[in-house]
Amino acid sequence: MTKLFSFKDENKTDINWSNCSGTVRSILEGYLAGKEISVQDGIQLFSSGPADEKFICDIANQIRKEKTGDVVSFVVNRNINFTNICYMGCKFCNFSKRIEDKGAEWLTIEQIVERAKEAHSRGATEICVQGGLHPKLSANFYRDILLSVKKEIPDLHIHAFSPFEIWYGASKSKLSYKDFLSDLKECGLDSMPGTAAEILDTDVRKQLTQNKLSTDSWVEIIKEAHFLGIPTSSTIMYGHIDGPEHWANHLVKLRNIQKDTNGFTELVPLSFVYKDSPLYLNSKGTVRKGPNKSEVNKMHAVSRLLLSGWIDNIQVSWTKLGLERASELLNYGVNDLGGTLMNESISRSAGSDFGQEITSFELVKLIRSIGKIPIQRTTLYQPLFDFSQKDPTETAPLVDRTSRKTIDFINQL
Ligand code: SF4
Repeated sequence: MTKLFSFKDENKTDINWSNCSGTVRSILEGYLAGKEISVQDGIQLFSSGPADEKFICDIANQIRKEKTGDVVSFVVNRNINFTNICYMGCKFCNFSKRIEDKGAEWLTIEQIVERAKEAHSRGATEICVQGGLHPKLSANFYRDILLSVKKEIPDLHIHAFSPFEIWYGASKSKLSYKDFLSDLKECGLDSMPGTAAEILDTDVRKQLTQNKLSTDSWVEIIKEAHFLGIPTSSTIMYGHIDGPEHWANHLVKLRNIQKDTNGFTELVPLSFVYKDSPLYLNSKGTVRKGPNKSEVNKMHAVSRLLLSGWIDNIQVSWTKLGLERASELLNYGVNDLGGTLMNESISRSAGSDFGQEITSFELVKLIRSIGKIPIQRTTLYQPLFDFSQKDPTETAPLVDRTSRKTIDFINQL
């Protein structure tokens, strides 16, 4: 049996299991002895009570220490959502608009390049480009974005296009996923967001997205990207009509893909934001108001354990959970705070009120306040700057960059 990691002997004897249930203890002891966490084990861990949760989170924190030390990383990036016009009708989505709707938006290539240049001048090393599936969008639009941005700013990393967009662009251009992705790579696609995963389960997807992008298609596109040398992130959107069985299955699916391809850079658990989500608003009480605190803790901690050795970067989404919860989760298995974003709009559309941007100066302040080492990284997790001793340059914020809640939290650190 391959040992996934080793605790130092003194730590091993530190574990006092007296409050832990027999089932969870046996799973965690098996894990500490090198056994992989199975789907069944995952279900048990996700279903466990408060006493067990403490063991799961503490052990996840130990593993986080072994894997990534006390470094907490982040990337300076900008989200560019080039259109919110989309007719796919995913039930959880409040971002999409119809062409005639107030607030419908479609950026031209020139506007996208302008935003990229502005981001670059503010220190961004990455733009994250995603958009709705606009019915009038030509398949060439995707490649034109890449060519136009790279022409102006060749060294800016382009992290772009969800598997849903790849599915759409490939079908519009009548190319296989492989050929469509190869072309995008040649045009400058550096990596992709592993969004649109939601929950990789056919029954759940049918209810969330009408299964337009099936689980199999999501997996096929992600694997094609990885095999072509296009890394992706991975995500899970949880806390709506799903539960422990779906979460454990989803994570094991991601782990199996990683065993084949080694193309995932991180996992980003995305808590369902219910407030303005049609899925919740139209459900008459059958859809949950997102995951509860314990489920959020366990999602990050179990992900750390279940993916250990395969996906060792666990990112918390500050736009969904806020900075206070994000900083707590840095002790429950999380090692990355994601990006500065500059223009977050998807979580905001669903009712999240943690703002659109956080500056690197503020992230560094937060990381230092909990005694960890702030590192600005590249999209692919290469360290760029160590801010443990010096401050990053303060950048002038964009208008309406963040929320009062976020500013107040930063100010009291
Ligand atoms: S989640 Fe994406 S694909 Fe689905 S409706 Fe919203 S914008 Fe369209």
